[in-house]
Amino acid sequence: MKIAIIGGVAAGTSAAAKAHRENPEAEIILFEKDENISYAGCGLPYYISGVTDSRQKVVINTPEAFTKKYKVEVRTGHRVDEIIPDKKLIRYRNLKNNRDGEYRYDKLIITTGASPVIPPIPGIKLNNILTLRTINHADMIKNILNKNKPERVSIIGAGLIGLEMAESFSKLGLKVTVIEKLPQVLPQFSPEMAQIVGAHLKENGVDLLLKDGVVKFTGDNSVEKVITESGQEIKTDLVLVSVGIRPNVELARKAGIKIGPTGAIAVNNKMQTSLSDIYAAGDCAESTDLVSGKSIWAPLGSTANKQGRVAGENAAGGNNRHDGVLKTAITKVFDLTVARTGLSEKEASEAGFDPIGVKIKAVNHAGYYPGLDKLHIKGVFDKKTKRIIGAEVIGKNGADKRIDVLSTAIYSKLTTHDLFQLDLAYAPPYSTPKDAVARLGMVSQ
Ligand code: FAD
Repeated sequence: MKIAIIGGVAAGTSAAAKAHRENPEAEIILFEKDENISYAGCGLPYYISGVTDSRQKVVINTPEAFTKKYKVEVRTGHRVDEIIPDKKLIRYRNLKNNRDGEYRYDKLIITTGASPVIPPIPGIKLNNILTLRTINHADMIKNILNKNKPERVSIIGAGLIGLEMAESFSKLGLKVTVIEKLPQVLPQFSPEMAQIVGAHLKENGVDLLLKDGVVKFTGDNSVEKVITESGQEIKTDLVLVSVGIRPNVELARKAGIKIGPTGAIAVNNKMQTSLSDIYAAGDCAESTDLVSGKSIWAPLGSTANKQGRVAGENAAGGNNRHDGVLKTAITKVFDLTVARTGLSEKEASEAGFDPIGVKIKAVNHAGYYPGLDKLHIKGVFDKKTKRIIGAEVIGKNGADKRIDVLSTAIYSKLTTHDLFQLDLAYAPPYSTPKDAVARLGMVSQ
């Protein structure tokens, strides 16, 4: 059995490791166009800020270590340029010596990930305008920080990565401006919850420009100013463009593999594509929304790891499934934990529910125990069935466990009644006798 894997970060290495465990006799070759594999993309903001104090710590496995551990041949600097499904063949270019080669597979797993969107804004090619996706990007940013000692950074886009980087740059002493076209930060959150995060950014010294787009970057060789639609001219030494990502699907599309309605590769719950013996997983592939049942594109490291594992197991002869996701996401913005799961009210209406949003303020634990913090919780419920179908939580300590309880509740199709009935753990340092989740259930009944 010969298994080829294209891409070597979260989904690719997860697939390779599981394929080896499932079928230790299989020949597994992983093709990666970059030099690095198996690193924590999610850890890059902390590597840049120095919170994680060495590069080695975000690189989970070097190619050599990965080969030793999993008996997988890792070919870095190898870009796959063509898949020929009829012949079960891939053609690649070895970027180290510029030679072309080919490999015949029995099973192929595509984990080509996603790439940052680079908007065609005049001046975007100036020096010191960067994106953050790979560890190479992180190295470039660190290099500029060390060499040029920038004082001011502008972040274009107030999504999860933009805000994580706002904190990282602030920690390093830079003056940070975040520019966002929408009227709120974090577009996946409801406006009233996002507003809490916006206020917290300002409290932490971040300049936040909402409802404003960038029309131009100016400067001689390096960027010096960001010009916005509202006419602001922001002096800057560094720009991070963080306006979204697109799935890398061209290789699959050219091979005749079906691309789904979201623009990512269509897969079933075995992670098989439309062509037999070809699997796809991670940020290049679709998933199923567990509440609406629709195909969605939810590019997250948690999903990439699980989908990769399932693709690897099945390609090697096993039988596993990845049923879908709730798009559960969490991030740290300075002192706040900001998290969401399931459907927003808008998504719920589009999916045919009759939703109602209920927002409560609760506390993380007993008032007399030190460290009392507020928790802002929003639940989205289906009016007819009283089922919980979405949630957002913002707070300090304890926000992370509430989102995971609510995610589990959505997965299990629990109702407002069930949220109250859940027998959640209580002691003064951790909770209140009626936990914040139970309170959400109580007020929503
Ligand atoms: P990728 O990581 O994109 O890897 C794909 C690989 O395929 C790349 O190395 C690419 O070079 C290679 N490749 C592509 N085409 C070819 C080809 N033709 N030939 C050979 N190789 C090819 N997710 C979370 O769940 N939680 C977080 O907190 C979180 N934080 C993040 C923070 C940052 C700054 C970033 C950038 C991402 C974060 N993510 C987070 C998302 C997470 O990192 C991604 O979902 C995950 O990396 C996706 O893994 P992947 O293997 O599918 O794709």
